[in-house]
Amino acid sequence: MPSAESRFRTATSQQIGTHLVVSNEIEQRVATQWLVYATGLPRILRRCLRCTSATYCADGTFRVNANGKLLDVWLLARCAGCGKTANLTVLERVHVHAIDPSLLTRFHDNDLELTAKLLADPALARRNGVTLDWDGAWAVQKTTTEASEADVIDISVRFVRRIPIKVTTLLSVGLDVSRSEVRRLVADGRLWSAHRLTGTSSGDFSFALRRHAEKHRED
Ligand SMILES: [Zn+2]
Repeated sequence: MPSAESRFRTATSQQIGTHLVVSNEIEQRVATQWLVYATGLPRILRRCLRCTSATYCADGTFRVNANGKLLDVWLLARCAGCGKTANLTVLERVHVHAIDPSLLTRFHDNDLELTAKLLADPALARRNGVTLDWDGAWAVQKTTTEASEADVIDISVRFVRRIPIKVTTLLSVGLDVSRSEVRRLVADGRLWSAHRLTGTSSGDFSFALRRHAEKHRED
């Protein structure tokens, strides 16, 4: 049985809790945005048939092959071990009139931006039976906000490229804290979202962060 004193403390902290609910209505919130963008090309995970390497790299080189009015387009990737070339299918037997001429120019120009865009499309990896490793090939650009007065920051995360990233890693990079600190913030209820904060995400989501532990936690 709790003592009279501890029951009194419980009653007091419940009152404090009520006050906190009231003060929540006037808490300062500020909204900000993170942009997730590619800083390079992902490694292409695929076993080489000539050496022991399982990593290929694309450098933005395309190969366009015309067979009458039909075009095939491949993205070239080289084995990181022996340099053997692999062709990743981009377009297969597509009528030349069905391709936007400006897109065709970009294939011929070996456009690096187009390469990044194509590699971020899960359909290309699926079609070619490869997995992509984006580690070290992305960054977060944060909007500068005056957050010094804010109790809660609402952060919307927008993916400029659909780069699949572990959510904990993304939050850790964006908030500049360790991944275990991110997990602690979630466990403490200071970081929350309608979106699942585990696993991998490549789509926009938002979350909220309470900057300081609530008063009754500090007591
Ligand atoms: Zn090789």
